[in-house]
Amino acid sequence: MFENLEIWWVTGAQMLYGEEPVRIVESHSKEMVEGINAAGVLPIKVVYKGTVMSSKDIERVMLDANGDKRCIGIITWMHTFSPAKMWIHGLQQLRKPLLHLHTQYNAEIPWDTMDMDFMNLNQSAHGDREFGHICARLNVRRKVVVGYWKDKKTLEKIAVWSRVAAAWADAQDMLVIRFGDQMNNVAVTDGDKVSAEMQLGYHVDYCPVSELMEYYKKVEDAAVDALVAEYHKLYVCEGDVAKEGTEAYKSVWNAAKAELAIRACLDAKGAKAFTTNFDDLGTDNINDPKFVGFDQIPGLASQRLMAEGYGFGAEGDWKSAALYRTLWVMNQGLGGCSFLEDYTLNFDGDNSAILQAHMLEVCPMIAEEKPRLEVHFLGIGIRKAQTARLVFTSKPGAGITATVIDLGNRFRLIVNDVECIKSKPLPKLPVASALWIPMPNFEVGAGAWIMAGGTHHSCFAYNVTPEYWEDYAEMAGIEMVHINKDTTMPEFKKELRYNEVYYSLNK
Ligand code: MN
Repeated sequence: MFENLEIWWVTGAQMLYGEEPVRIVESHSKEMVEGINAAGVLPIKVVYKGTVMSSKDIERVMLDANGDKRCIGIITWMHTFSPAKMWIHGLQQLRKPLLHLHTQYNAEIPWDTMDMDFMNLNQSAHGDREFGHICARLNVRRKVVVGYWKDKKTLEKIAVWSRVAAAWADAQDMLVIRFGDQMNNVAVTDGDKVSAEMQLGYHVDYCPVSELMEYYKKVEDAAVDALVAEYHKLYVCEGDVAKEGTEAYKSVWNAAKAELAIRACLDAKGAKAFTTNFDDLGTDNINDPKFVGFDQIPGLASQRLMAEGYGFGAEGDWKSAALYRTLWVMNQGLGGCSFLEDYTLNFDGDNSAILQAHMLEVCPMIAEEKPRLEVHFLGIGIRKAQTARLVFTSKPGAGITATVIDLGNRFRLIVNDVECIKSKPLPKLPVASALWIPMPNFEVGAGAWIMAGGTHHSCFAYNVTPEYWEDYAEMAGIEMVHINKDTTMPEFKKELRYNEVYYSLNK
């Protein structure tokens, strides 16, 4: 999904030093861009877009960036002192994420040979400060990365930003489909869809379940048979689940049909994310001869579609569905991610932890072992029925979880570092699960999350650092609070209060 994307590199300079230095700047810039691409740390290619020396040049490249779908963001680097008034009009119009790289072509000062010609070519020490000033003056949201351009650490920071920029671009073109409405009376998963589109980019639509049933009716038996065969290859299938003619086999078959219907409907609409509601599954009366509806909550479909990258939120939670999609895009190739719910608590002194699960919908990307495909009775929702699901426990290890809430006057991104510890099977509650200790410990981690107003739903990933969410919040221009090993309740409460003032003033 990163293949057709580009990051544009723009070098700032001026003509003060004559044409020869500018020619050399051009060749240095090209060498740097080629070197950065060749290093293989960035998942997205950088394209050199020229050395700009006037307000007109800058405005042109910014407008081109806005209009080019491939361009997900711009990296600027001020090789010389680039007088920053000429950046005003361009920066005012830039609509793509900006990364300001503070680096220099040359690494170490050549003490014995350095002359004015060298200085004319290695001026970012002051040039990048001039550029930083105008960004601060204009309040331009950006990431500042400082480091030598050949250092892996520098490139890794750019790589994080580029993954987030790709996810941000993806969100600007995201349609979230709600099959059924929000679960009645629930506050935390609701919010202002108009504000979400204005601030976060994605669009949320409703699709009547009756419309989804039109896709369900059209699913061909042969396609369902093929998908069930695929399940048998991918998952541990034992007992009746693997035996044709049994009730369990039929439940799996119906679940596969539901998956094909949901995918077909989402793809027909060009949707990247969806929500479901267990109280809205098609015609209510399963004994009606004209019955068209899911015979069970399509949890298996949600699990598998999440792994494919479709955003998912249960009970109509469209904010989580959109956030999961964003997380999946930036996390590609790094490690698993899943929609999860704070399920139940396990008090155990310093190891007190929160079981993370859902009645069905946990993404198999976080599984420690090959998931088991099982069928069990589920007595929740409008259809109390034998229900297929993937059952597993998650990998132990460090991870991060995030949620977005709507506070009325703004969105708040809440991020918590978590440590996944060994979970156990639940023979009487066969669902997929994770077990984690929120940082800095259960007491402060859960307390701060609750104090900040965080949801019981969140989007979790391995191998995603807080830097990803910092970059996301910067691009989106939303509040972010990060609960981590250094969090204390008194300081955290102060941060929430300060933020309240800041966001009230900046509305
Ligand atoms: Mn839930």
